[in-house]
Amino acid sequence: MPPALEIAGLEKTYANGLQALKGIDLQVEKGDFFALLGPNGAGKSTTIGVICSLVQKSAGTVRVKGIDIDENFAGAKRHLGVVPQEFNFNVFESVEDILIHQAGYYGIPLKTALGRIDLYLEKLGLADKRHVRARMLSGGMKRRLMIARALIHEPSVLILDEPTAGVDIEMRRSMYNFLCEINAAGTTIILTTHYLEEAESLCRNIAIINHGKIVTNTSMKNLLRELHREIFILDSRETLPQDLSVQGFTITRKDDYSIEAQIDRGQDLAELMAGLHQRGVSIISMRNRENRLEQMFVSLLEQAS
Ligand code: ADP
Repeated sequence: MPPALEIAGLEKTYANGLQALKGIDLQVEKGDFFALLGPNGAGKSTTIGVICSLVQKSAGTVRVKGIDIDENFAGAKRHLGVVPQEFNFNVFESVEDILIHQAGYYGIPLKTALGRIDLYLEKLGLADKRHVRARMLSGGMKRRLMIARALIHEPSVLILDEPTAGVDIEMRRSMYNFLCEINAAGTTIILTTHYLEEAESLCRNIAIINHGKIVTNTSMKNLLRELHREIFILDSRETLPQDLSVQGFTITRKDDYSIEAQIDRGQDLAELMAGLHQRGVSIISMRNRENRLEQMFVSLLEQAS
C-alpha cells in the first residue's frame, strides 16, 4: 500500500530568487492525521501549492497514493482534496451551484452530487446557506464551503492550509470534530498550522518546517514528551562513582564531577537526589540545560506573532 503522500527533495525558488523550499522530504501514511507546523513564511503554503500544482516546483518529486504528479496529475488529483488559504470560488454563485460545478468537473452524476451536498452542508453547518450567494457568507462560512467543495469527489487525502484561519472558537471546535469524523472513516488528513495547540489536539504525526526545511518529523506523542522533558546538569563534590543508575531516571555521566539527568514533567527531583545520595553522591549545584525543542518553539512563536 503506497503512502498517502510522499514528497522527496522538494525545492522551490520563486522568480524573485527567494528559495522558499530547500529540499523537503515528507511521508504521510494512509489514514494519518498529520500536521505541518511552522511560522509564517516557513514554506507551508508553497508546499501545498506544489502538491496541487498551483506552484511549479524547482526540483523534487511528489506522489499522491503512489502516483507521481508529474506523470499523471489528473490521476493524483482524484485522490486529493485541497483547501487552500485563499478563497477561490466565484462569489456571485450560490453555495449549491459552486458545489454542483465542482462535482461536474469530476464527472460526478448530479443525483450523487446532490446527496453529497446535503450531507456536507449539514455536517459543516451550512445547510441553511445552500441557496445563498457565496459573497454573502462570513469568512468562517466561506472556509467551510471550501472544505465542502474539496470533499465533493470524496478524496482519500484531504489537505487543508490553515483551516481555522478566520474561524471563531465555537466553529473551530465543530470543524475539528468533523475532521476527526472523516479521518476516523478513513480519509487521510494533512493540515498546516502555526498553532502547536491546534496540531496537538488533532494530529497523530507532525513535521515542523522552518525557513524551507523540515526541522523535526515525529509522532505528536514523541514531540510532546520531548517538550515536557527537562535536562539538568548536576555537579558533585566528590569524584563520581561509575554506577550512577537511579530507577526511573535517565542519567549520563559527563565527567568525573558532573552528570546530566532527564526529568520528565511530573517526576520528583527529590527522588533523584535521594537515589544519588544512596550511591554516595552529594550534589552541590544544579542547572537547567536548555531544551532544544522548547527553544525552537519559543523562536517559532515569536516569528509567528
Ligand atoms: P507559509 O505558508 O509557511 O506562511 P509560504 O509558503 O507562503 O509560507 O512562503 C514561504 C516564503 O516564500 C516566504 O518567504 C514568502 O514570502 C515567499 N513567497 C511566497 N509566495 C511567493 C511568490 N509568489 N513570490 C515570491 N516569494 C514568495
